[in-house]
Amino acid sequence: MTEDFDRELLALAGQSRALLEDLALFGVGGIPVPEVAANLPVCPPQVRGVDRGGEAACREETLEEIRAELEECRRCPLCQGRRNIVFGVGNSRARLVFVGEAPGREEDEKGEPFVGEAGRLLDRILFAMGLARQDVYICNVVKCRPPNNRTPLPDEIEMCSPFLMRQIRTIKPRLVCCLGAPAVKTLLGVKEGITKIRGRFYDFQGTKALPTFHPAYILRNPREEKILREDFQTIVEFLKSPR
Ligand code: URA
Repeated sequence: MTEDFDRELLALAGQSRALLEDLALFGVGGIPVPEVAANLPVCPPQVRGVDRGGEAACREETLEEIRAELEECRRCPLCQGRRNIVFGVGNSRARLVFVGEAPGREEDEKGEPFVGEAGRLLDRILFAMGLARQDVYICNVVKCRPPNNRTPLPDEIEMCSPFLMRQIRTIKPRLVCCLGAPAVKTLLGVKEGITKIRGRFYDFQGTKALPTFHPAYILRNPREEKILREDFQTIVEFLKSPR
C-alpha cells in the first residue's frame, strides 16, 4: 500500500516537473508561489524544504534574493573598475545553465552576460539547437569585469563563486555547461586542459555538468566551432533523454 502510494507520488512529481519544463520551453518562467510558502524562512545550505516530513519548513532562496545580496558588492577589488554587476539572465527554472568566465566591456556596460561578440556566437549556436536565451540561464564565475579582460584571480573567484553556487542551487537545472577553463576549475575542480575533458559529463553536486570551449576561444580559433557545435548537440540529446 505504502509502496504503491510512493510510486504514485514519484510519478506525479515526475509529471509535474516535465510539465514545468515544457512550460519553460514556452517562456513561462514560474508559477506564482502561494503566500504561505513565500513566508517560510530560507533553508540553510544543504537543507531542502521538502525534506522535512513532507511538509515544507523552509524554502529555497530566490534569484532576486541572491542578487540583492550582491547589490553594491565591495568584497573584492574588481568592484573598483566595474560599471555594473553582471548577475545573470534567463529562465529561473532553466533546465540548462551556462557558466562563463567574467563580464567583458559590453557586458559591464549593459549589466548582462554574453552580449558582446562571444555572446552573439552563443546565441547563434543556441538558435541552431532550437533554444533561445529565455529558455536557458546564463551567468559567469565572477560578476564584475576584470581590468583589461584578464582572467579572474583565485581570490576574486573565491569571493564571488559562492554566489554562482547559490544561483545553480536555486535554479536546479538538469545540466550545467561550463564554458572554458575558469568555469571548469571552479565548478568541477578539474585541472586538465579543456581540449582533453570537453564534451564529457561530470558531476557537480549531484547535477550533470559538461565542459566545452568558451565561445571567445572559438572566435580566435574558428576551425574549432565544429567541435563546440558537437558538444551542444550532446547537450540537446541529454536534455531530450528521460531522467
Ligand atoms: N565572456 C564571458 O565569459 N562572459 C561574458 O559574459 C562575456 C564574455
